[in-house]
Amino acid sequence: MQTLHHILAGRRVAVIGAGPIGLEAALYAATLGASVRVYERGTIAASVGDWGHIPLFTAFGLNHTVLGRRTLEAAGRSLPDDDAALTGEQWRAAYLLPLAVTPPLEGSILEGSPLVTVGRGELLKGDHIGDGGRSSQPFRLLVRSPAGERYDEADVVLDCSGTYMNPNWLGLGGVPALGEAAARPHIDYHPIDVAGTERGRFVGRRVLLVGGGYSAATTAVALAGLALEDARTEVLWVTRVPREVPITPIEADALPRRAELAAAANLLASDPAGQLTWLAGGGITAIEWLPDADAFEVDLQTAAATKRVTVDRVIANVGYEPDDALYRGLQIHECYASRGPMKLAAALLSATAAAGGDCMKVGGLGPEALANPEPDFFILGAKSYGRNSLFLLGNGHEQVRDVFRLITGDRELDLYAAAGEALLAYPDG
Ligand SMILES: Cc1cc2nc3c(=O)[nH]c(=O)nc-3n(C[C@H](O)[C@H](O)[C@H](O)COP(=O)(O)OP(=O)(O)OC[C@H]3O[C@@H](n4cnc5c(N)ncnc54)[C@H](O)[C@@H]3O)c2cc1C
Repeated sequence: MQTLHHILAGRRVAVIGAGPIGLEAALYAATLGASVRVYERGTIAASVGDWGHIPLFTAFGLNHTVLGRRTLEAAGRSLPDDDAALTGEQWRAAYLLPLAVTPPLEGSILEGSPLVTVGRGELLKGDHIGDGGRSSQPFRLLVRSPAGERYDEADVVLDCSGTYMNPNWLGLGGVPALGEAAARPHIDYHPIDVAGTERGRFVGRRVLLVGGGYSAATTAVALAGLALEDARTEVLWVTRVPREVPITPIEADALPRRAELAAAANLLASDPAGQLTWLAGGGITAIEWLPDADAFEVDLQTAAATKRVTVDRVIANVGYEPDDALYRGLQIHECYASRGPMKLAAALLSATAAAGGDCMKVGGLGPEALANPEPDFFILGAKSYGRNSLFLLGNGHEQVRDVFRLITGDRELDLYAAAGEALLAYPDG
Protein backbone atom coordinates (compact mmCIF):
# COMPACT_ATOMS: atom_id res chain seq x y z
CA MET A 1 0.00 0.00 0.00
CA GLN A 2 2.75 2.38 0.97
CA THR A 3 4.52 1.56 -2.25
CA LEU A 4 1.51 2.38 -4.42
CA HIS A 5 1.08 5.81 -2.91
CA HIS A 6 4.74 6.60 -3.47
CA ILE A 7 5.07 5.59 -7.10
CA LEU A 8 4.66 9.17 -8.33
CA ALA A 9 5.65 10.97 -5.13
CA GLY A 10 7.40 14.22 -5.94
CA ARG A 11 6.06 14.41 -9.51
CA ARG A 12 3.86 17.33 -10.43
CA VAL A 13 0.94 16.31 -12.64
CA ALA A 14 -1.16 19.05 -14.24
CA VAL A 15 -4.57 18.07 -15.57
CA ILE A 16 -6.36 20.46 -17.93
CA GLY A 17 -10.12 20.19 -17.52
CA ALA A 18 -12.23 18.83 -14.65
CA GLY A 19 -14.53 16.87 -16.94
CA PRO A 20 -15.21 13.16 -16.44
CA ILE A 21 -11.85 12.09 -17.86
CA GLY A 22 -9.84 14.85 -16.19
CA LEU A 23 -11.31 13.86 -12.83
CA GLU A 24 -10.49 10.17 -13.35
CA ALA A 25 -6.95 11.04 -14.47
CA ALA A 26 -6.44 13.31 -11.47
CA LEU A 27 -7.72 10.64 -9.11
CA TYR A 28 -5.38 8.06 -10.62
CA ALA A 29 -2.40 10.40 -10.28
CA ALA A 30 -3.29 11.35 -6.72
CA THR A 31 -3.71 7.69 -5.79
CA LEU A 32 -0.17 7.10 -7.01
CA GLY A 33 1.05 9.93 -4.79
CA ALA A 34 1.64 12.63 -7.39
CA SER A 35 1.18 16.29 -6.58
CA VAL A 36 -1.91 17.05 -8.70
CA ARG A 37 -3.44 20.25 -9.95
CA VAL A 38 -6.56 20.32 -12.09
CA TYR A 39 -7.17 23.53 -14.04
CA GLU A 40 -10.82 24.04 -14.91
CA ARG A 41 -11.89 27.05 -16.89
CA GLY A 42 -15.47 26.94 -15.63
CA THR A 43 -17.00 24.63 -13.09
CA ILE A 44 -16.55 20.92 -12.47
CA ALA A 45 -17.88 18.80 -15.35
CA ALA A 46 -19.19 21.96 -17.02
CA SER A 47 -19.77 20.30 -20.40
CA VAL A 48 -21.77 17.44 -18.90
CA GLY A 49 -23.82 20.02 -17.01
CA ASP A 50 -24.53 21.82 -20.28
CA TRP A 51 -26.10 18.70 -21.82
CA GLY A 52 -27.44 17.57 -18.45
CA HIS A 53 -31.02 17.09 -19.72
CA ILE A 54 -29.92 14.34 -22.14
CA PRO A 55 -30.04 10.69 -21.05
CA LEU A 56 -26.71 8.87 -21.41
CA PHE A 57 -26.65 5.94 -23.82
CA THR A 58 -24.40 4.04 -21.49
CA ALA A 59 -25.59 2.71 -18.13
CA PHE A 60 -23.88 3.93 -14.96
CA GLY A 61 -21.64 0.83 -14.87
CA LEU A 62 -19.89 2.11 -17.99
CA ASN A 63 -19.70 5.70 -16.77
CA HIS A 64 -17.50 5.26 -13.74
CA THR A 65 -14.31 3.44 -12.77
CA VAL A 66 -13.58 0.95 -10.01
CA LEU A 67 -11.19 3.48 -8.54
CA GLY A 68 -13.85 6.18 -8.51
CA ARG A 69 -16.37 3.84 -6.90
CA ARG A 70 -13.94 2.73 -4.19
CA THR A 71 -12.92 6.30 -3.49
CA LEU A 72 -16.51 7.45 -3.09
CA GLU A 73 -17.47 4.46 -1.00
CA ALA A 74 -14.46 5.10 1.25
CA ALA A 75 -15.83 8.64 1.68
CA GLY A 76 -19.20 7.22 2.76
CA ARG A 77 -21.09 7.91 -0.48
CA SER A 78 -23.44 5.42 -2.05
CA LEU A 79 -23.67 5.15 -5.81
CA PRO A 80 -26.37 4.31 -8.35
CA ASP A 81 -26.67 0.70 -9.52
CA ASP A 82 -24.53 -0.26 -12.47
CA ASP A 83 -27.57 -0.63 -14.72
CA ALA A 84 -29.00 2.78 -13.78
CA ALA A 85 -29.95 4.92 -16.76
CA LEU A 86 -29.09 8.51 -15.87
CA THR A 87 -29.27 11.88 -17.53
CA GLY A 88 -26.06 13.89 -17.77
CA GLU A 89 -27.11 16.00 -14.78
CA GLN A 90 -28.03 12.98 -12.66
CA TRP A 91 -24.66 11.38 -13.41
CA ARG A 92 -22.86 14.62 -12.61
CA ALA A 93 -24.70 14.98 -9.31
CA ALA A 94 -24.37 11.33 -8.27
CA TYR A 95 -20.77 10.71 -9.30
CA LEU A 96 -18.67 13.52 -10.79
CA LEU A 97 -19.35 16.31 -8.29
CA PRO A 98 -18.99 14.06 -5.20
CA LEU A 99 -15.79 12.56 -6.62
CA ALA A 100 -14.26 16.02 -6.93
CA VAL A 101 -14.51 16.56 -3.19
CA THR A 102 -13.19 13.19 -2.01
CA PRO A 103 -9.95 13.32 0.02
CA PRO A 104 -7.60 12.49 -2.89
CA LEU A 105 -8.92 15.38 -5.03
CA GLU A 106 -10.14 17.90 -2.49
CA GLY A 107 -8.30 21.19 -2.86
CA SER A 108 -6.53 20.19 -6.07
CA ILE A 109 -9.18 21.44 -8.51
CA LEU A 110 -8.92 25.09 -9.49
CA GLU A 111 -12.27 26.20 -10.91
CA GLY A 112 -12.50 29.42 -12.91
CA SER A 113 -8.87 28.94 -13.95
CA PRO A 114 -8.49 28.52 -17.69
CA LEU A 115 -5.19 27.14 -18.85
CA VAL A 116 -4.21 29.48 -21.67
CA THR A 117 -1.22 27.66 -23.11
CA VAL A 118 1.63 25.32 -22.23
CA GLY A 119 5.32 25.66 -23.04
CA ARG A 120 8.42 23.74 -22.08
CA GLY A 121 10.59 25.80 -19.77
CA GLU A 122 12.67 28.14 -21.88
CA LEU A 123 12.62 25.92 -24.95
CA LEU A 124 11.02 26.94 -28.20
CA LYS A 125 8.85 24.60 -30.23
CA GLY A 126 11.70 23.76 -32.60
CA ASP A 127 14.33 23.04 -29.94
CA HIS A 128 15.56 19.47 -29.38
CA ILE A 129 13.81 17.62 -32.18
CA GLY A 130 13.76 13.92 -31.39
CA ASP A 131 16.85 13.94 -29.17
CA GLY A 132 15.08 13.60 -25.81
CA GLY A 133 16.43 16.95 -24.63
CA ARG A 134 13.01 18.46 -23.98
CA SER A 135 12.52 16.33 -20.88
CA SER A 136 15.26 18.30 -19.14
CA GLN A 137 12.90 21.22 -18.52
CA PRO A 138 9.53 21.27 -16.74
CA PHE A 139 6.38 22.44 -18.45
CA ARG A 140 5.51 26.10 -18.07
CA LEU A 141 1.77 26.67 -17.81
CA LEU A 142 0.14 30.03 -18.40
CA VAL A 143 -2.89 30.12 -16.10
CA ARG A 144 -5.55 32.80 -15.99
CA SER A 145 -7.54 33.24 -12.80
CA PRO A 146 -9.60 35.98 -11.19
CA ALA A 147 -6.38 37.14 -9.50
CA GLY A 148 -4.64 37.60 -12.85
CA GLU A 149 -2.17 35.60 -14.93
CA ARG A 150 0.65 33.47 -13.58
CA TYR A 151 3.00 30.67 -14.54
CA ASP A 152 2.84 27.26 -12.91
CA GLU A 153 5.21 24.36 -13.49
CA ALA A 154 4.53 20.67 -14.01
CA ASP A 155 6.46 17.51 -14.89
CA VAL A 156 3.55 15.82 -16.65
CA VAL A 157 0.60 17.48 -18.41
CA LEU A 158 -2.64 15.68 -19.25
CA ASP A 159 -4.82 17.67 -21.64
CA CYS A 160 -8.38 16.55 -20.85
CA SER A 161 -10.03 19.76 -22.03
CA GLY A 162 -12.55 18.13 -24.36
CA THR A 163 -13.93 19.61 -27.56
CA TYR A 164 -17.43 20.57 -26.46
CA MET A 165 -16.71 24.30 -26.27
CA ASN A 166 -15.39 24.40 -29.86
CA PRO A 167 -18.30 23.63 -32.18
CA ASN A 168 -17.65 23.24 -35.88
CA TRP A 169 -18.92 25.74 -38.40
CA LEU A 170 -22.38 25.19 -39.76
CA GLY A 171 -21.54 26.05 -43.37
CA LEU A 172 -21.34 23.57 -46.21
CA GLY A 173 -18.05 21.66 -46.16
CA GLY A 174 -17.19 23.00 -42.72
CA VAL A 175 -16.41 26.43 -44.16
CA PRO A 176 -18.37 29.19 -42.40
CA ALA A 177 -21.53 30.02 -44.30
CA LEU A 178 -21.51 33.57 -45.64
CA GLY A 179 -22.54 35.72 -42.68
CA GLU A 180 -22.18 32.88 -40.16
CA ALA A 181 -19.47 34.58 -38.12
CA ALA A 182 -21.72 37.60 -37.57
CA ALA A 183 -24.78 35.44 -36.87
CA ARG A 184 -22.88 33.05 -34.55
CA PRO A 185 -24.10 34.54 -31.25
CA HIS A 186 -27.69 33.88 -32.33
CA ILE A 187 -27.18 30.30 -33.55
CA ASP A 188 -27.42 27.40 -31.08
CA TYR A 189 -24.44 25.09 -31.57
CA HIS A 190 -25.16 22.58 -28.79
CA PRO A 191 -27.90 19.99 -28.17
CA ILE A 192 -29.84 22.44 -26.03
CA ASP A 193 -32.91 21.63 -23.98
CA VAL A 194 -35.55 22.73 -26.50
CA ALA A 195 -38.35 20.97 -24.64
CA GLY A 196 -37.29 22.17 -21.17
CA THR A 197 -35.34 25.25 -20.15
CA GLU A 198 -35.29 26.66 -23.72
CA ARG A 199 -38.86 25.70 -24.57
CA GLY A 200 -40.10 29.28 -24.77
CA ARG A 201 -37.67 30.08 -27.57
CA PHE A 202 -38.74 27.14 -29.73
CA VAL A 203 -42.38 26.29 -29.22
CA GLY A 204 -44.55 27.55 -32.08
CA ARG A 205 -41.46 28.56 -34.13
CA ARG A 206 -39.92 27.59 -37.45
CA VAL A 207 -36.71 25.81 -36.58
CA LEU A 208 -33.83 24.82 -38.86
CA LEU A 209 -31.82 21.91 -37.46
CA VAL A 210 -28.53 20.97 -39.15
CA GLY A 211 -26.50 17.83 -38.45
CA GLY A 212 -26.59 14.08 -38.94
CA GLY A 213 -25.33 12.64 -35.65
CA TYR A 214 -26.87 11.53 -32.38
CA SER A 215 -26.99 15.05 -30.93
CA ALA A 216 -29.03 16.21 -33.92
CA ALA A 217 -31.24 13.13 -33.55
CA THR A 218 -31.83 14.02 -29.88
CA THR A 219 -32.77 17.57 -30.84
CA ALA A 220 -35.01 16.38 -33.69
CA VAL A 221 -36.98 14.08 -31.41
CA ALA A 222 -37.40 16.81 -28.79
CA LEU A 223 -38.51 19.35 -31.40
CA ALA A 224 -41.02 16.89 -32.82
CA GLY A 225 -42.44 16.56 -29.30
CA LEU A 226 -42.89 20.35 -29.18
CA ALA A 227 -44.63 20.23 -32.54
CA LEU A 228 -47.13 17.73 -31.18
CA GLU A 229 -47.94 20.15 -28.36
CA ASP A 230 -48.17 23.21 -30.60
CA ALA A 231 -48.85 22.57 -34.27
CA ARG A 232 -47.38 25.95 -35.23
CA THR A 233 -43.93 24.49 -34.52
CA GLU A 234 -42.21 23.58 -37.79
CA VAL A 235 -38.93 21.73 -38.06
CA LEU A 236 -36.68 21.54 -41.10
CA TRP A 237 -33.92 19.00 -40.49
CA VAL A 238 -31.02 19.18 -42.93
CA THR A 239 -28.36 16.48 -43.14
CA ARG A 240 -25.32 16.55 -45.37
CA VAL A 241 -25.05 13.06 -46.81
CA PRO A 242 -27.77 11.84 -49.15
CA ARG A 243 -28.99 8.53 -47.73
CA GLU A 244 -32.17 6.68 -46.93
CA VAL A 245 -32.44 7.65 -43.26
CA PRO A 246 -30.80 10.46 -41.29
CA ILE A 247 -29.15 8.13 -38.74
CA THR A 248 -27.67 4.90 -40.04
CA PRO A 249 -28.52 2.33 -37.35
CA ILE A 250 -25.63 0.32 -35.89
CA GLU A 251 -26.17 -3.37 -36.52
CA ALA A 252 -27.00 -5.25 -33.30
CA ASP A 253 -26.29 -2.09 -31.31
CA ALA A 254 -25.03 -2.96 -27.84
CA LEU A 255 -26.52 0.30 -26.52
CA PRO A 256 -30.33 -0.05 -26.66
CA ARG A 257 -30.92 3.63 -25.84
CA ARG A 258 -28.81 4.66 -28.82
CA ALA A 259 -30.69 2.25 -31.08
CA GLU A 260 -34.05 3.60 -29.83
CA LEU A 261 -33.00 7.17 -30.53
CA ALA A 262 -31.89 6.32 -34.07
CA ALA A 263 -35.18 4.51 -34.71
CA ALA A 264 -37.28 7.38 -33.33
CA ALA A 265 -35.43 10.02 -35.36
CA ASN A 266 -35.59 7.95 -38.54
CA LEU A 267 -39.30 7.35 -38.08
CA LEU A 268 -39.97 11.06 -37.72
CA ALA A 269 -37.96 11.80 -40.84
CA SER A 270 -39.91 9.26 -42.86
CA ASP A 271 -43.37 10.64 -41.98
CA PRO A 272 -44.47 13.01 -44.76
CA ALA A 273 -47.50 14.12 -42.73
CA GLY A 274 -45.49 15.10 -39.63
CA GLN A 275 -44.35 18.55 -38.50
CA LEU A 276 -40.74 17.62 -39.25
CA THR A 277 -39.39 17.82 -42.78
CA TRP A 278 -36.14 16.04 -43.46
CA LEU A 279 -33.88 17.19 -46.28
CA ALA A 280 -30.95 14.93 -47.09
CA GLY A 281 -27.92 16.07 -49.07
CA GLY A 282 -28.31 19.73 -48.17
CA GLY A 283 -25.96 22.40 -46.86
CA ILE A 284 -26.06 25.99 -45.67
CA THR A 285 -24.14 28.50 -47.77
CA ALA A 286 -25.34 31.81 -46.31
CA ILE A 287 -27.08 32.96 -43.16
CA GLU A 288 -28.20 36.34 -41.94
CA TRP A 289 -29.63 37.20 -38.55
CA LEU A 290 -32.47 39.72 -38.78
CA PRO A 291 -32.76 41.28 -35.33
CA ASP A 292 -35.97 43.20 -36.00
CA ALA A 293 -37.76 40.07 -37.19
CA ASP A 294 -36.09 37.84 -34.56
CA ALA A 295 -35.43 35.46 -37.46
CA PHE A 296 -32.80 34.26 -39.94
CA GLU A 297 -32.62 34.22 -43.71
CA VAL A 298 -30.74 31.14 -44.83
CA ASP A 299 -29.45 29.95 -48.21
CA LEU A 300 -29.93 26.23 -48.43
CA GLN A 301 -28.07 24.40 -51.18
CA THR A 302 -29.11 21.01 -52.51
CA ALA A 303 -28.04 19.11 -55.63
CA ALA A 304 -31.08 20.57 -57.42
CA ALA A 305 -30.92 24.24 -56.46
CA THR A 306 -30.20 26.85 -53.83
CA LYS A 307 -33.24 28.29 -52.13
CA ARG A 308 -33.71 30.96 -49.52
CA VAL A 309 -35.71 30.07 -46.41
CA THR A 310 -36.75 32.17 -43.44
CA VAL A 311 -36.64 30.50 -40.04
CA ASP A 312 -36.93 31.74 -36.47
CA ARG A 313 -34.27 29.55 -34.90
CA VAL A 314 -31.17 27.71 -36.10
CA ILE A 315 -29.65 24.77 -34.26
CA ALA A 316 -26.35 23.46 -35.59
CA ASN A 317 -25.47 20.08 -34.09
CA VAL A 318 -22.51 19.61 -36.41
CA GLY A 319 -19.83 18.32 -34.08
CA TYR A 320 -16.79 19.79 -32.40
CA GLU A 321 -13.07 20.07 -32.91
CA PRO A 322 -10.08 20.35 -30.60
CA ASP A 323 -8.53 23.69 -29.69
CA ASP A 324 -4.80 23.42 -30.32
CA ALA A 325 -4.01 26.75 -28.63
CA LEU A 326 -3.08 24.84 -25.48
CA TYR A 327 -0.19 22.98 -27.10
CA ARG A 328 0.78 25.08 -30.11
CA GLY A 329 4.19 25.73 -28.54
CA LEU A 330 4.86 22.02 -28.00
CA GLN A 331 5.84 19.20 -30.33
CA ILE A 332 2.48 17.61 -31.02
CA HIS A 333 1.83 15.76 -34.27
CA GLU A 334 -1.81 16.23 -35.22
CA CYS A 335 -3.72 14.04 -37.67
CA TYR A 336 -4.52 15.96 -40.85
CA ALA A 337 -8.03 14.50 -40.98
CA SER A 338 -9.31 14.18 -37.41
CA ARG A 339 -6.97 16.66 -35.68
CA GLY A 340 -6.41 14.12 -32.91
CA PRO A 341 -2.84 13.24 -31.90
CA MET A 342 -1.35 11.34 -34.84
CA LYS A 343 -0.50 7.95 -33.33
CA LEU A 344 -3.86 7.64 -31.64
CA ALA A 345 -5.70 8.83 -34.74
CA ALA A 346 -3.99 6.18 -36.88
CA ALA A 347 -4.70 3.42 -34.36
CA LEU A 348 -8.30 4.59 -34.07
CA LEU A 349 -8.80 4.62 -37.82
CA SER A 350 -7.80 1.00 -38.24
CA ALA A 351 -9.61 -0.13 -35.05
CA THR A 352 -12.82 1.62 -36.14
CA ALA A 353 -12.69 0.06 -39.59
CA ALA A 354 -12.22 -3.37 -38.00
CA ALA A 355 -15.18 -2.70 -35.66
CA GLY A 356 -17.51 -1.76 -38.51
CA GLY A 357 -17.83 1.80 -37.16
CA ASP A 358 -19.33 0.76 -33.80
CA CYS A 359 -17.53 2.65 -31.03
CA MET A 360 -18.60 0.01 -28.49
CA LYS A 361 -16.46 -2.50 -30.34
CA VAL A 362 -13.36 -0.32 -30.66
CA GLY A 363 -11.08 -1.96 -28.15
CA GLY A 364 -8.11 -0.53 -26.26
CA LEU A 365 -5.59 1.14 -28.52
CA GLY A 366 -2.71 0.55 -26.13
CA PRO A 367 -0.40 2.90 -24.23
CA GLU A 368 1.89 3.63 -27.18
CA ALA A 369 -0.96 5.24 -29.11
CA LEU A 370 -1.02 8.00 -26.47
CA ALA A 371 2.62 9.03 -26.86
CA ASN A 372 3.48 12.34 -28.55
CA PRO A 373 6.81 13.70 -29.80
CA GLU A 374 6.58 16.00 -26.74
CA PRO A 375 7.59 13.82 -23.79
CA ASP A 376 5.17 13.68 -20.85
CA PHE A 377 2.40 15.61 -22.59
CA PHE A 378 -0.70 13.53 -23.28
CA ILE A 379 -4.11 14.27 -24.76
CA LEU A 380 -6.88 12.18 -23.22
CA GLY A 381 -10.67 12.03 -23.34
CA ALA A 382 -12.93 13.40 -26.05
CA LYS A 383 -10.18 15.72 -27.28
CA SER A 384 -7.91 12.79 -28.05
CA TYR A 385 -10.39 11.68 -30.75
CA GLY A 386 -10.26 15.12 -32.35
CA ARG A 387 -13.20 15.69 -34.69
CA ASN A 388 -14.13 12.03 -34.49
CA SER A 389 -17.33 11.73 -32.46
CA LEU A 390 -16.96 8.05 -31.52
CA PHE A 391 -15.42 8.68 -28.10
CA LEU A 392 -17.06 6.90 -25.16
CA LEU A 393 -16.19 7.15 -21.48
CA GLY A 394 -14.91 3.57 -21.48
CA ASN A 395 -12.27 4.60 -24.03
CA GLY A 396 -11.21 7.43 -21.74
CA HIS A 397 -10.96 5.13 -18.72
CA GLU A 398 -8.67 2.83 -20.68
CA GLN A 399 -6.57 5.81 -21.69
CA VAL A 400 -6.17 6.86 -18.07
CA ARG A 401 -4.97 3.40 -17.11
CA ASP A 402 -2.64 3.28 -20.13
CA VAL A 403 -1.16 6.72 -19.69
CA PHE A 404 -0.04 5.92 -16.16
CA ARG A 405 1.60 2.77 -17.47
CA LEU A 406 3.62 5.05 -19.73
CA ILE A 407 4.33 7.61 -17.03
CA THR A 408 5.41 5.08 -14.40
CA GLY A 409 7.06 2.65 -16.81
CA ASP A 410 5.10 -0.18 -15.15
CA ARG A 411 3.24 -1.97 -17.95
CA GLU A 412 1.23 -4.06 -15.50
CA LEU A 413 -0.05 -1.21 -13.34
CA ASP A 414 -3.85 -1.26 -13.24
CA LEU A 415 -5.80 0.49 -10.51
CA TYR A 416 -8.99 -0.46 -12.32
CA ALA A 417 -8.48 -4.19 -12.06
CA ALA A 418 -10.89 -5.68 -9.53
CA ALA A 419 -7.91 -7.25 -7.77
CA GLY A 420 -6.48 -3.78 -7.28
CA GLU A 421 -9.15 -2.73 -4.84
CA ALA A 422 -7.11 -3.72 -1.82
CA LEU A 423 -4.48 -1.24 -2.96
CA LEU A 424 -6.69 1.76 -2.52
CA ALA A 425 -6.32 2.33 1.18
CA TYR A 426 -4.52 5.58 1.70
CA PRO A 427 -1.62 5.70 4.10
CA ASP A 428 -2.73 9.18 5.07
CA GLY A 429 -6.48 8.92 4.73
C1 LIG B 1 -24.71 15.08 -25.61
C2 LIG B 1 -23.63 14.06 -25.32
C3 LIG B 1 -23.98 12.83 -24.82
C4 LIG B 1 -22.99 11.88 -24.56
N1 LIG B 1 -23.37 10.65 -24.08
C5 LIG B 1 -22.42 9.74 -23.80
C6 LIG B 1 -22.80 8.47 -23.26
O1 LIG B 1 -23.97 8.17 -23.06
N2 LIG B 1 -21.81 7.59 -22.97
C7 LIG B 1 -20.48 7.86 -23.21
O2 LIG B 1 -19.64 7.01 -22.92
N3 LIG B 1 -20.11 9.04 -23.74
C8 LIG B 1 -21.04 9.99 -24.04
N4 LIG B 1 -20.66 11.19 -24.58
C9 LIG B 1 -19.25 11.39 -25.01
C10 LIG B 1 -18.25 11.75 -23.89
O3 LIG B 1 -18.20 10.74 -22.93
C11 LIG B 1 -18.52 13.09 -23.24
O4 LIG B 1 -18.36 14.09 -24.24
C12 LIG B 1 -17.59 13.41 -22.08
O5 LIG B 1 -18.08 14.56 -21.44
C13 LIG B 1 -16.13 13.64 -22.48
O6 LIG B 1 -15.39 13.88 -21.33
P1 LIG B 1 -14.04 14.74 -21.33
O7 LIG B 1 -13.62 14.79 -19.89
O8 LIG B 1 -13.09 14.21 -22.32
O9 LIG B 1 -14.45 16.20 -21.86
P2 LIG B 1 -15.49 17.26 -21.27
O10 LIG B 1 -16.61 16.62 -20.58
O11 LIG B 1 -15.81 18.18 -22.41
O12 LIG B 1 -14.66 18.05 -20.16
C14 LIG B 1 -13.64 18.98 -20.52
C15 LIG B 1 -13.48 19.97 -19.38
O13 LIG B 1 -12.35 20.80 -19.68
C16 LIG B 1 -12.66 22.16 -19.39
N5 LIG B 1 -11.78 23.01 -20.21
C17 LIG B 1 -11.83 23.20 -21.54
N6 LIG B 1 -10.82 24.01 -21.92
C18 LIG B 1 -10.12 24.35 -20.81
C19 LIG B 1 -8.98 25.16 -20.56
N7 LIG B 1 -8.34 25.79 -21.56
N8 LIG B 1 -8.54 25.28 -19.29
C20 LIG B 1 -9.18 24.64 -18.27
N9 LIG B 1 -10.27 23.87 -18.45
C21 LIG B 1 -10.73 23.72 -19.71
C22 LIG B 1 -14.15 22.26 -19.73
O14 LIG B 1 -14.75 23.36 -19.08
C23 LIG B 1 -14.67 20.90 -19.22
O15 LIG B 1 -15.04 20.95 -17.85
C24 LIG B 1 -21.63 12.17 -24.82
C25 LIG B 1 -21.29 13.44 -25.31
C26 LIG B 1 -22.26 14.38 -25.57
C27 LIG B 1 -21.86 15.73 -26.09
